[in-house]
Amino acid sequence: MIQFEKVSKVYPNGTVGLNNINLTIQPGEFVVIVGLSGAGKSTLLRSINRLHEITDGHIKIDGKSITAARGAELRRMRRDIGMIFQSFNLVKRVSVLRNVLSGRVGYHSTLTTLLGLFPKEDIELCLKALERVNIREKAYSRADELSGGQQQRVSIARALAQEAKIILADEPVASLDPLTTRQVMDDLKRINQELGITTIVNLHFIDLAREYATRIIGLRAGQVVFDGPVEEATDEK
Ligand code: ADP
Ligand code: ADP
Repeated sequence: MIQFEKVSKVYPNGTVGLNNINLTIQPGEFVVIVGLSGAGKSTLLRSINRLHEITDGHIKIDGKSITAARGAELRRMRRDIGMIFQSFNLVKRVSVLRNVLSGRVGYHSTLTTLLGLFPKEDIELCLKALERVNIREKAYSRADELSGGQQQRVSIARALAQEAKIILADEPVASLDPLTTRQVMDDLKRINQELGITTIVNLHFIDLAREYATRIIGLRAGQVVFDGPVEEATDEK
């Protein structure tokens, strides 16, 4: 469960990113956050794993404050959270498998990961993750040889290899064509259903949100202006 309690974020230049957000997201939910550019979607998502620090309030995960977590505890909490970006954020010049293995970094010592000495079980796990997103045959290709949609599926596999319990996807399909967009959204939805991974996706197209979400949260100027089932979401929100 993810809880936002009176969460606000004011950027150092005074811009308000989030303004007093209160939300509860249950385990296994597939939530889509919609809103115009600048509404605060990215700020909200990135505040969950503290890629952005909030300036007021608390965010709790399974009852534990990630806002207050430090050191090893924060690292452990972050390990449960997989992040997917619009621009894929893969290491371009190395293999797909290496990229997926980077999801295992939090499970090993720095030396192991620096030397790239991952145990066999990790490789098995990563290949399985690639299989789940139907891209196993690309394991030994260089990441930058893949199409955009394939690269995004690799980043989903990386989150699976991380054994994330929560996936945060920040505009994951914004740079993809309509067909590839569907494939990536289908993958996210299927993984949510098969593995019960809590999934929060930022989208700026309400039509796509309606098609995939069971719950839509609408943001405007850093505030929640809609929160409910898909049927009730209109273009006004
Ligand atoms: P969205 O993801 O919905 O497009 P963002 O969360 O990126 O919205 O932005 C919310 C608001 O915060 C916007 O007004 C944006 O300009 C501002 N903002 C985002 N990042 C920064 C930053 N690093 N410094 C200052 N303002 C920012
Ligand atoms: P996105 O497409 O993810 O919303 P943006 O183009 O809004 O990204 O922002 C790109 C980068 O600039 C991000 O790191 C964001 O935090 C930062 N940024 C966005 N708005 C502002 C702003 N008003 N002032 C300073 N930085 C900003």
